[in-house]
Amino acid sequence: MSNSIKIESIQLLKDGHRLEFDIIANSISTRIYFQVEGAVLTPSAEAFVLMTLLPAMKLGSEIEIEEAVSGKLISSLPDIQSILRQWFPEEDLKKFPIENIPLKRENPPKNLKSATFSSGGIDSYYSLIKNQSEITDIIFIKGFDIKLNNEVLLKNSLELVQKIGNHFNKNVIVIETNLKLFLNRYVNLRIHFGVFLSSIAHLLSNRIRKVFIPAGDSYARILPHGSHPLLDPMFSSESMQIVHDGCESTRLEKLKTISDSDFAVNNLRVCFNAHTSFLTNCEWCEKCIRTKLGLLIINKLSNNPSFKKPIEIGRIRKLKLRPNIKNYYTEILYELEKTGEYPELCYAVSSILNQQSFIKTNRELMQKYLQRLKYKFPNLYDIFYLGNPKTKRLN
Ligand SMILES: [Zn+2]
Repeated sequence: MSNSIKIESIQLLKDGHRLEFDIIANSISTRIYFQVEGAVLTPSAEAFVLMTLLPAMKLGSEIEIEEAVSGKLISSLPDIQSILRQWFPEEDLKKFPIENIPLKRENPPKNLKSATFSSGGIDSYYSLIKNQSEITDIIFIKGFDIKLNNEVLLKNSLELVQKIGNHFNKNVIVIETNLKLFLNRYVNLRIHFGVFLSSIAHLLSNRIRKVFIPAGDSYARILPHGSHPLLDPMFSSESMQIVHDGCESTRLEKLKTISDSDFAVNNLRVCFNAHTSFLTNCEWCEKCIRTKLGLLIINKLSNNPSFKKPIEIGRIRKLKLRPNIKNYYTEILYELEKTGEYPELCYAVSSILNQQSFIKTNRELMQKYLQRLKYKFPNLYDIFYLGNPKTKRLN
């Protein structure tokens, strides 16, 4: 199978705390690594299938794997491929045959742990607090929503997650990887979100048997996305249950739930723009403004150490909202009006909801252009856009 995607040269190092292997795709070999603290890694065939799934669909290649793979996961692959093809037609994803993948029979392990992912945001606090009695571990990833070269933000976020682990008495697993740099060559994070997190869950399968992926949207508002209540459970195996968790609540309802914990509501990190060591959130971006309005509604904004500045009405008026973000502000406006206390804020939110069109920023136009480039010239993309020397091409 010359056109197949395969994993080679697998090395489990440092007593299971580091895993390295080559992914050969489109005749290009990429060395991928995972480095972990707080657990040990398992070279999982299910993880290998998931992390090569989208590149295989993009290239129209088969996945070539010698190790036996969970029958449950393999039986989900036709539906996973159909859903991804229908949700993202612009990506020109192709179905690949799965009959050559060897199957294994697994017995579900007993007495293992449950985990959730966290970097200190609202969705992950909600999942943690809601499933507190079941969750034993919190997973923090370096190289996912925070880039590997953003050292200050990585350090601040890790400190916060360790604080969360101490407060809620959970084991913190810290995992660093360059997998995203590889996957970004084929599809963007919005599409590979679920397979990325599920791959990590499977690599931790000697400790964890169930992973909660915190939902970003409620059932009423959810749109096609690579992590979705329809998709994530299909990334499970007989010994690893993947749960898309939290769609039953809107963002404001989640804030209300987590506000029962003073620790959670005072230690929120919703923003990845705060690049200095003394700032938790930038307080300027759309996500920060949205969160501050939510905290104001539930009376948790004043004296909140994560958001120290007052809400600027002029800043709200300047926001340009994407259609999917407008939904959050519709809910905020409804709840703000119910308080009867903030007529000027209501007017400002109402005015941005009435904007006729969403204007793409220069950054978004540039990202769209780079998305096209990266597929044709992966080396150039890594160097100029991602700027990360840890991705090493072997040929
Ligand atoms: Zn911000």
